[in-house]
Amino acid sequence: MTQAVQLDQAEIDLFRDNVRKFFEKEIAPHYVQWEKEEILPREVWTKLGENGFLCVDVPEEYGGFGASFRLSAIVVEEASRFGFSGLASNLSVHSDIVAPYILHLGTEEQKQRWLPGMVTGEVVGAIGMTEPGAGSDLQSMKTRADKDGSDYLINGQKTFITNGQHCDVIVLACKTDPAAGAKGITLFTVDTALPGFARGRNLEKMGHHCADTSELFFENVRVGADQILGGEGRGFANLMDELPRERLILALGAVAACEGMLERTVEYVKERKAFGVSVSQFQNTRFKLAELQAQIAVNRAFTTQCTNEYDEGKLTAVNASVAKLTTTELQGKVADECLQLFGGYGYMQEYQISRDYVDARIQRIYGGTSEIMKEIIARSVLGK
Ligand SMILES: Cc1cc2nc3c(=O)[nH]c(=O)nc-3n(C[C@H](O)[C@H](O)[C@H](O)COP(=O)(O)OP(=O)(O)OC[C@H]3O[C@@H](n4cnc5c(N)ncnc54)[C@H](O)[C@@H]3O)c2cc1C
Repeated sequence: MTQAVQLDQAEIDLFRDNVRKFFEKEIAPHYVQWEKEEILPREVWTKLGENGFLCVDVPEEYGGFGASFRLSAIVVEEASRFGFSGLASNLSVHSDIVAPYILHLGTEEQKQRWLPGMVTGEVVGAIGMTEPGAGSDLQSMKTRADKDGSDYLINGQKTFITNGQHCDVIVLACKTDPAAGAKGITLFTVDTALPGFARGRNLEKMGHHCADTSELFFENVRVGADQILGGEGRGFANLMDELPRERLILALGAVAACEGMLERTVEYVKERKAFGVSVSQFQNTRFKLAELQAQIAVNRAFTTQCTNEYDEGKLTAVNASVAKLTTTELQGKVADECLQLFGGYGYMQEYQISRDYVDARIQRIYGGTSEIMKEIIARSVLGK
């Protein structure tokens, strides 16, 4: 593994500051409109790329900055803090899920083919695991890749795929040996320009509107064996190896979203008056905010520990699950309790907290549900 470029704290702070300025200038003025349109303009990807905000930890030989995950995560954290949760999910999938799969599992040819474009934003990445009949229970997936000469023919359907409308490459999980259970799953890098690939509906969701979550269809899509990612029959094991980072980035986004909601709520309760005083002066408000701040601080500390563990190659599936479970459950609580402090205005769409509230809900479902996180943790607690 290439050693990550080491930056000092001042350089990290400068990067965060640049990300914030970019979001303020390029994203904030348009975000509500993109939510209404239920998709980001394609140019947002290339603008993010031009500014060096995509796949930040991809090594320099593939066009990236070669920084640590800690730096890369700042982009998703800041999008989440601003309350751009749909964009944060687009970015997490592209930079923190698909790019690492290709980087860690890909052949030199696959890395050269896809990573430089992912860094510039000319190539958008998606990950296709979920199917109509297979979500938490991935092993029951039906999409097949059958050998045809030296190639494979892919047939099947995926659903709920983030970046589904914009994606140019999909890391796709398929069954290559349906009788072999987990050992019969193989990952492929699939070029969406190939004949037989079709995008389905951009699904209507309760939140994350600008994240293009879609159905995808594959009918006799022919791919060469050189598009296998990480070895035939190794798909399930590879997914398990890569999932901790996916869960950690969701956890970091959740903590930053909590911090953003708290900041906006503090501002509101200081201004809003009731019974002749500011809402911030009621003991209930003070205690609620204190309680939330305390829980956010504890979650921040644990996710920082997990980030360090990831950068040292030591993050376990269990710690990633603990982080995902606790932070996303907290995000739901913070959204609910902060909205309450806004009173009726919190229920109005013109107040961002109403969007924060609906956007928070998916965090406990995708990337492994809270129940699946508890199963993983329970196995480690009980030793089975
Ligand atoms: C907005 C959005 C974006 C997404 N993006 C992607 C993406 O980019 N790529 C992708 O592949 N997928 C994506 N997903 C899919 C997501 O990962 C799945 O929805 C999730 O894993 C749950 O699967 P499911 O929806 O089939 O629910 P199910 O697995 O059917 O679960 C239903 C309920 O049963 C519970 N349950 C299941 N198994 C157990 C168990 N063993 N013990 C206890 N309870 C259990 C679950 O926790 C849940 O409460 C996305 C989903 C959404 C909504």
